[in-house]
Amino acid sequence: MNANFKSGFVTLIGRPNVGKSTLMNQLIGQKIAITSKKPQTTRNRIQTVYTDTDRGQIVFLDTPGIHKAKNKLGEYMVTVAERTLQDVDVIVWLVEPSTFIGAGEQHIAEQLRKSNLPVILVINKIDTVKVQEDINKTDTVKKEEVLLFIDAYRKLLDFAEIIPASALHGDNTDTIIDMIFKYLPYGPMFYDEDTVTDQPERQIVAEIIREKALHALDEEIPHGIAVTIESMKQRKNGITDIEATIICERDSHKGIIIGKGGAMLKKIGSNARFEIEKLLEGKVNLRLWVKVRKGWRDSDIQMKNFGYNINE
Ligand code: GDP
Ligand code: MG
Repeated sequence: MNANFKSGFVTLIGRPNVGKSTLMNQLIGQKIAITSKKPQTTRNRIQTVYTDTDRGQIVFLDTPGIHKAKNKLGEYMVTVAERTLQDVDVIVWLVEPSTFIGAGEQHIAEQLRKSNLPVILVINKIDTVKVQEDINKTDTVKKEEVLLFIDAYRKLLDFAEIIPASALHGDNTDTIIDMIFKYLPYGPMFYDEDTVTDQPERQIVAEIIREKALHALDEEIPHGIAVTIESMKQRKNGITDIEATIICERDSHKGIIIGKGGAMLKKIGSNARFEIEKLLEGKVNLRLWVKVRKGWRDSDIQMKNFGYNINE
């Protein structure tokens, strides 16, 4: 192994819908490798590994979609303050292209300032920045506007880097990787570059279903939902049978999740299946159930997905 090899932990933060999952998909693509680290009692993180055998290994923490849907702004702050900043080397903060910096952003900046960690700001969705009507100076106007966003954020925090990018189109995403490597310490290869083990795969499958459900439900469920994988087996012909349960807190929520004549559940199922088939690279037969469990805890459910019995 070369002496210039770098490795470390990176966390991706940002409001819901800013493009975190899209960026992860864009960065990792086919290289996705889910680590098999045993879950600790208090912490249970999804880790996604980006390996470049020449440059190093980036371990992304808390991605994708581990941020909770409940009380969006509040939860998001808690995540940043108490959990996300532990044991990381570099922070990547995604924002929308806007000069408006709200109270949420101010608060996050405050936490980040205290952490003393290098923060890379990614101004995502740069492709949506509108070109002004003035035909004669389309390109210039665009660039000027991007500079305004950069300026607004520069005043907020002393960022290590500010990168305008489009996660969706892959514009400038290589630069994000380059800049992460720039701030990563020298270190060893933590994980095998292409190990995908069964247990964490289950957790990713659960996370995909959860994300599709939250997306389809469009914030109709105030207290969030959890997903457990009851069984996941591959047949000899390659088809994977998956049985999963969506857990909610109230009977009324159960009704919403199932939808009229089961329409909502069907939509969640087919959206999730599409994504899981890409992950598993094969046909999937997905069966979804909905259960009400009052006061469920996210951590318990995640432990169950790792094959641990909560009551043990
Ligand atoms: P997350 O909640 O932060 O994980 O956000 P997602 O990755 O799920 O993205 C939310 C929505 O924004 C999706 O519809 C994406 O297609 C869209 N999106 C993400 N990145 C970009 C981008 O660079 N440009 C545009 N136009 N849309 C984007
Ligand atoms: Mg997401």
